[in-house]
Amino acid sequence: MADLIKLEPLFHNKIWGGRRLASEYGYQIPDGPVGECWAISAHPAGDCPVTAGPGAGGTLSELWDARPELFGGEAGKPGSAPGGDRFPLLVKIIDADGDLSIQVHPDDAYAAEHENGSLGKRECWYVLDCEPGATIVVGQRAHNREEFAQLVEEGRWSDLLNEMPIHKGDFFQIDAGTVHAIKAGTLILETQQSSDVTYRVYDYDRVQDDGTKRELHLAQSLDVIDYAAQAPASGAITAAETDGVTELEKNSNYTVDLVRVDGEKTLAQPWSFMCLSVIEGAGTICGEPVEKGAHLLAPCGCGDLALAGEMALITSHL
Ligand code: ZN
Repeated sequence: MADLIKLEPLFHNKIWGGRRLASEYGYQIPDGPVGECWAISAHPAGDCPVTAGPGAGGTLSELWDARPELFGGEAGKPGSAPGGDRFPLLVKIIDADGDLSIQVHPDDAYAAEHENGSLGKRECWYVLDCEPGATIVVGQRAHNREEFAQLVEEGRWSDLLNEMPIHKGDFFQIDAGTVHAIKAGTLILETQQSSDVTYRVYDYDRVQDDGTKRELHLAQSLDVIDYAAQAPASGAITAAETDGVTELEKNSNYTVDLVRVDGEKTLAQPWSFMCLSVIEGAGTICGEPVEKGAHLLAPCGCGDLALAGEMALITSHL
């Protein structure tokens, strides 16, 4: 059986970040407000070191280029794995102590043309924890570009934005073109396309330590917003759990599952690769001890994964 690939998370300071990535997950994080843990990433803005398994000592992007067969490609042929020239997913944990900006992401076509060949960004959120009364913004109410621009101009945010209460265990799929914001008091596991392109519509007129405001991108936002998208009424999961597995989302970019382990469980791994993040409890994966906050990649052809313990995981694959 091929070895599992173990990754070291990378951290990003954010104006809205907090300290829960240290206090809740035990990560060694930099000083100051830390908003994001990039747990499984080969993106140039955060390329995770591989600490054990194939490619140990290098980074995930180096492993992707050097060993395409581990990701469903052909040995010796870089770029042959599904996903092509780059590892296509990015798994983050987000600690929102303050509100994230009101934002929207482009799709692949717009990003390729306007953002130097970047991928677009489809993302999804599993709510790991939230404070009582926490809310989230998913979707907006303007019917077209002109109406959106006018409501922004007039600062009528509550008329414009679809904001709703959230609860631990909620799940939201955010397609490209959907206006959204994670709000204060929320811990989220995000699975997304490997992209870092964000267009900010509004940042609450916040001022950074250096006295400046973060850049807004209203023109690009107006270009990419999907004015016909239906906003969800809640993040309650409606899919049924089968043998401990709940399919949270399946689209052309990723499939994301919630996996509960209570004792022993065998998880099939027939995919080109599988991302695994332990979000609760502790146990073992193929004999390797893991606990909340651990992130692993199961390579192509590794066979069934033997899980044991009392834990919950979020998994993803293409
Ligand atoms: Zn986003």
